[in-house]
Amino acid sequence: MRKKVTTPFALPIPGFGESPLTSEDFERACAREGIAVRRERIPDETARGYYSPGGGSPFIVIDARLRGRRKLLAEFHELAHHFLHGWRHDFRSELAWERLGGKRHYTPRQEWAEMQADAAALLAVAPGLSLPAVVRFLLPELSMTQTRGKEGTR
Ligand SMILES: [Zn+2]
Repeated sequence: MRKKVTTPFALPIPGFGESPLTSEDFERACAREGIAVRRERIPDETARGYYSPGGGSPFIVIDARLRGRRKLLAEFHELAHHFLHGWRHDFRSELAWERLGGKRHYTPRQEWAEMQADAAALLAVAPGLSLPAVVRFLLPELSMTQTRGKEGTR
């Protein structure tokens, strides 16, 4: 029933982008949206969580081992998929390559969806973050040097 345009900069969660959101905010938003939240150990070491539209019974799985900021980012990343990508999101591909440097195959559309979910998660948990911090998080490859191989310059 949402009429407003939802973007990574405007998720329909009270306080979004204004003050840092918490796990309680995440749980409340999920309850409101009818999203079941499961916390379990995800066998794929490269996955922190995933979202599935579940054919009308959406659910989010968050790795039970996550703590602190990493847990928060995973929670709001997956919730962002719900608001931004909904039924179009293929959670199996998500499961296959979610974060943590696993070299998986992404389609450009998946890359874009991940970028959007990352941006929204950052805004949810750290709305006052500096631009360099945001860019470093979203585009870590920007800090790499042109020459391949050995670490960075300096
Ligand atoms: Zn994702």
